[in-house]
Amino acid sequence: MTGQTGIFDAETLNACIGCGYCLPTCPTYRLTGDEASSPRGRITLMRAIQAGEIELGDPAAMEQSQECLACRACEPVCPAGVQYGSLIEQWRDAGWKRMPIKVFAAAAAVRRTWTLRLGAAVVPHARTHRGDNDTHLMLGCFERILFPKVSRSVQQTYPDISVDPNQGCCGALHAHNGELQTGEDMARQLGDDLPGTIVTTAGGCAAHLASVIGRERVVELSEYAASHPPKRKLSQITRNGRVARIAIQDSCHLRNGLGVADTIRFLVSRMGTLVDLRTAGDCCGAAGSYSLLRPEAAHRVFDAKRNEISDSDLDVIVVVNPGCYRQLKTELAVGASDIEVLHLAELIAESTADQP
Ligand code: SF4
Ligand code: SF4
Repeated sequence: MTGQTGIFDAETLNACIGCGYCLPTCPTYRLTGDEASSPRGRITLMRAIQAGEIELGDPAAMEQSQECLACRACEPVCPAGVQYGSLIEQWRDAGWKRMPIKVFAAAAAVRRTWTLRLGAAVVPHARTHRGDNDTHLMLGCFERILFPKVSRSVQQTYPDISVDPNQGCCGALHAHNGELQTGEDMARQLGDDLPGTIVTTAGGCAAHLASVIGRERVVELSEYAASHPPKRKLSQITRNGRVARIAIQDSCHLRNGLGVADTIRFLVSRMGTLVDLRTAGDCCGAAGSYSLLRPEAAHRVFDAKRNEISDSDLDVIVVVNPGCYRQLKTELAVGASDIEVLHLAELIAESTADQP
């Protein structure tokens, strides 16, 4: 015994009753069949660390803290309401000094607003706009650089929403990878810089931001579109000479953290033929920085949905998070698939374009 560590919130940690209902929902457990790779197994490890029975830096325990996708698929099914997402963040927060250097580099880059400005200066994301209402568009850090068309599409559909190109990062990457305090400070700062309602196009950012500044201030794009129908009516888009067959890849944090899934389906069903995949809610392997740090494991996680995607005669897969966007593009390219990947914002912009 090395004594109590106090790493985890005791009430949250003790809430697990060990029923195992979460096991079938966990992508890493489904891949390995190993109890240690399950939510219940990881909670057992956390309890052993908390009790000082094993060291925080124990290699097997560290591996499990990193193998977890932090997708939170284990939360909605848990009868005891265990907030697993908080526990994994606390675990990683304590183990941060042992994290791979790649995470430090990415997190440090987005922590500085000037880095974002520099990167974003060369990509054409949404233009500066001071709207006439108290609603701001969050640009995201990686999204504004990797997928600038997403914010441009929102601006095309909703020209009244304010856009501040000098906004910083919400800190989700930091919080998910073990810098809890920094992640919270950054979210609070963004909330101060963008007063009023913040419209987001990134599921992971939405969940993190809402957890810090309050759910009532954070509105994900599909929620906003459902309550603020675009001025131009949604119309059906076509691909390959037919109404497009469109599937959805949910964002784990959006679905499991904020419960946002139905509004996305409602909108997509208005723009094409909705093909609701059985695996739509399962993690695609992106999981924040997971696919960068553990590309082989991320590839295996995606493989669990590959057959269903290729057998569904799809034209488009819609995403609502930049990590999923990148992961799906990468994985579909591996199989030389011609299925198009589009962000919901891009689909709405296309659906409402060029109409009287
Ligand atoms: S479902 Fe909840 S209570 Fe049951 S084992 Fe999983 S985390 Fe524990
Ligand atoms: S967060 Fe996802 S990968 Fe991690 S234990 Fe829960 S279901 Fe499994």
